[in-house]
Amino acid sequence: MNNKKIILFGGTFDPVHLGHTIVANAALEYIDAGRIIFIPAKCSPLKGAMPRASDIDRLNMLSLAASGMKNADVSDYEINKPAPSYTLDTVRYFRSIYDNEYILYWLVGADSIDDLIYWRNIKELIDECNIAMMYRAEYEKPDFTRYQSIWGAERVENLQRNIVPTPLVDISSTKVRKNIAAGCDISQMLDSAVLNYIREHGIYKSESKNPGR
Ligand code: ATP
Repeated sequence: MNNKKIILFGGTFDPVHLGHTIVANAALEYIDAGRIIFIPAKCSPLKGAMPRASDIDRLNMLSLAASGMKNADVSDYEINKPAPSYTLDTVRYFRSIYDNEYILYWLVGADSIDDLIYWRNIKELIDECNIAMMYRAEYEKPDFTRYQSIWGAERVENLQRNIVPTPLVDISSTKVRKNIAAGCDISQMLDSAVLNYIREHGIYKSESKNPGR
């Protein structure tokens, strides 16, 4: 294990599910990194709607999920910033904590490949960290070669080199929320501590935002 490799894993995590933790563990192993840091976003600039669960509930659920993993932490950096959060700002914040001896990775699922060109300062982001794109069930395996004319051969080479062949886990937060609202069993999709938390706090029971949350 290389303690100087740090994986940053941003997302809405509304809620964190087994897809997230399984691919996070696979990425830790594949990249041979010392640590993975989950970074819940206040609100994704590319997702229209606000998260359903409150910031504090999403943080608490992530902490429960991370405590069941080795070498995983949760950061409240983006949650405590005024929305929206841009990835480059977050990477620069972590770079200010981890000096240049550390190698930073930004983990992202293959469902984001078409959005990447809309990310703010994407070229700087590719230059300042290693974007590590994972496989995702129901999406094509990532291939960045079509971006060669926009980002240049060297950036595309870096992106291709950092693709992480994670297991395909067909779970999404959307599916989890829909199943809860429909009263379906979600025990195969969530860490048991996260499942208990959702039950105890009555989160996601209706399709609309929980009142007061
Ligand atoms: P939603 O269904 O609400 O859009 P989501 O399940 O995609 O949510 P996010 O919190 O948006 O979860 O995901 C955070 C990151 O984790 C994203 O980069 C996403 O691509 C990745 N991710 C989520 N679920 C999986 C999965 N099952 N396999 C691989 N990557 C995943």
